[in-house]
Amino acid sequence: MANPFNNLTQVLAKLPGIGRRSAERVALALVRKGDELAVPLIDALTDLRNQVCTCRLCGSITTHDADPCRLCSDPMRDPKLLCVVEDSGDILAIERSGAFKGVFHTLHGRISPMSASGPDDIRLAELEKRIEQGSY
Ligand SMILES: [Zn+2]
Repeated sequence: MANPFNNLTQVLAKLPGIGRRSAERVALALVRKGDELAVPLIDALTDLRNQVCTCRLCGSITTHDADPCRLCSDPMRDPKLLCVVEDSGDILAIERSGAFKGVFHTLHGRISPMSASGPDDIRLAELEKRIEQGSY
């Protein structure tokens, strides 16, 4: 039978920036503070799984009840100013600066021959479609 602690540690270690030792520390904290930490984490993960999706226009993170996302739906943003980014984290960083008032398109990756990621592996076709339709 699988060991739940080892399973959790292995899953946590797959998260970006979390190595094996950090995964073990997080798993131990979850065991020690079950009701205080594990239950809210389970709830947050369940909400994430049930409610979060990618915006049908820009591809950034949003919820099913706010699709298109708040940035794509904001009438104060300039729809003719399009910023193409690698992932949703880039949007968060640019939005924190407050300097950009256009709209975004998230590629969900980048072309990288070293990791065998080509144009078909990212949202380039969606970008081309948006530009052709002028719907950005
Ligand atoms: Zn959007």
